[in-house]
Amino acid sequence: MLGDDFREIRESVEALCRRYPESYWRGLEECRRYPSEFIAEMTSAGFLACLIPERWGGSGLGLGEACAILEEVCRSGAHAGACHAQMYVMASILRHGSEEQKNAWLPEIAKGRIRFQSFAVTEPDTGSDTTRLKTAARKVNGTYLISGQKVWTSRVRHSDLMLLLARTSPIAEDADRTFGLSAFLVDLRDAESKGLAIRDIDAMINHHACELFLDEFPVPEENLVGEAGRGFRVVLDSMNAERILIAAECIGDARYFIEKASAYASERVVFGRPIGANQGIQFPIARSYAETSASSLMVRRAASLFDSGKRCGAEANMAKLLAADASWRAGDAAMQTFGGFAFSKEFNVERKFRETRLYQTAPVSTNLILSYLAERELNLPRSY
Ligand SMILES: Cc1cc2nc3c(=O)[nH]c(=O)nc-3n(C[C@H](O)[C@H](O)[C@H](O)COP(=O)(O)OP(=O)(O)OC[C@H]3O[C@@H](n4cnc5c(N)ncnc54)[C@H](O)[C@@H]3O)c2cc1C
Repeated sequence: MLGDDFREIRESVEALCRRYPESYWRGLEECRRYPSEFIAEMTSAGFLACLIPERWGGSGLGLGEACAILEEVCRSGAHAGACHAQMYVMASILRHGSEEQKNAWLPEIAKGRIRFQSFAVTEPDTGSDTTRLKTAARKVNGTYLISGQKVWTSRVRHSDLMLLLARTSPIAEDADRTFGLSAFLVDLRDAESKGLAIRDIDAMINHHACELFLDEFPVPEENLVGEAGRGFRVVLDSMNAERILIAAECIGDARYFIEKASAYASERVVFGRPIGANQGIQFPIARSYAETSASSLMVRRAASLFDSGKRCGAEANMAKLLAADASWRAGDAAMQTFGGFAFSKEFNVERKFRETRLYQTAPVSTNLILSYLAERELNLPRSY
C-alpha cells in the first residue's frame, strides 16, 4: 500500500523499482556489487537531484518529497542505502555553500555527472563522540592538507565528491567543543594518487563501506564549506536530514515487512488453516502496523520543520528512534511469520532484516538519541 502523501511521486518510484525485483538485490549481495543500473535510473528520473533547486537543474522539492522517494524504494524491497547520501549531504551545500560552490557542483550533480554519495565523519578511535575526532586539516598556501583516518565511509568508491569533517584547530575543553571543526568537499576522482588510501570493509550488509587513510591529502581552500572552525553547524543540517530520511527508509522497510508477513500469513496453511488466523501471528503484525503509522507522522513532522528552516533536532531524532524501532519490530514479526523459510535467502526477509538492523546503530545509535532527548529536551543531568 502506497503512503498517502505525494502520490504521484510514490507511483513513479514504485514503477521504477518494479524493474529491479528482489532477485536483483539478492544477486548484488552475493557478489558485493553496487546497483549501478538502479542508481543511473534513479538519477535520470531526477529523484536523486530532487532537493537541488530548479535554477541548478534539479526539481527544487523538499525533504518531505525526498522521504516519500526513499520510503517507496525501501517498501519495494530495494536497498536505499545505495543512494540516500546524495539527498542528505545536499543540505550542507544548499544551506552553507558559497555561490561558487553551488554553481560549480550542483548542475553537475543534477545531470548525474558527479555522484555525491559519501559523508566521512566517523573515526575508529572516537565513534559517537564526534567532537573528539582527530583527522586534522592545516592550511598551507591556500591549500588544506588533511591527515587522519575515517572508518565506515560508505559508497566512497561509487562517489565523485565527499563531504568530510576535520579539525582545523584543537578542541577547547572548557568551551564549545564543536568549535574548530571544519567541513570540506573532497573531490574523489583522482584522490588515490594524492594521499588518500581506501580499504574495503567486509560487512554484514552491502553499504560499500570503507576505511580511509589520509596523508597530507590536499584540498583547495575553495572547497571549505561555510566558515573554518564552524563546520559542525554545516554538517548538523546534513545529519538532521540524514536522520529524517533514514527514518523514512525505516517506514518503507516496516511497510515491506508488514505487507510480506500479511500475504504469507494469509496463504500459508498449517493445522488446516492459514497461520494468519492465529492471533499469535496476527497481533505482532497489527501492532507493527500501528507503530509504523504513528512513527510515520513523526517523520512527516520532522521533515516539515526541516523544510521550513525551523529547529528540528528533537523531532529528527525522535523520528529516527521511533521509525527504526517500528521497522525492527516489523522485521521480527515478519521473521516469525515466515517460520523456517525466513532464514532462506530466497524469501528475502532475512536480507531486509539485516538491512534494517543497521538503523538501531547508525547514523546515530538509539542510546545516543535517548541521551539527547533526556539531557537536551528534558534537562536531566548530563552523562557526558
Ligand atoms: C554499514 C555502516 C555504514 C556506515 N556509514 C557511515 C558513513 O557513510 N559515514 C560515517 O561517517 N559513518 C558511517 N557509519 C558509522 C556509524 O555512524 C557509527 O557506527 C555509529 O555512529 C556508532 O558509532 P561507533 O560504531 O563508533 O559506536 P560507539 O560510539 O563506539 O558506540 C558503541 C555502543 O556504545 C553505545 N554508547 C556509546 N557512548 C554511549 C553513552 N554515552 N551512553 C550510552 N551508550 C553509549 C552506543 O550507543 C553503541 O551502542 C556507518 C556504520 C555502518 C555499520
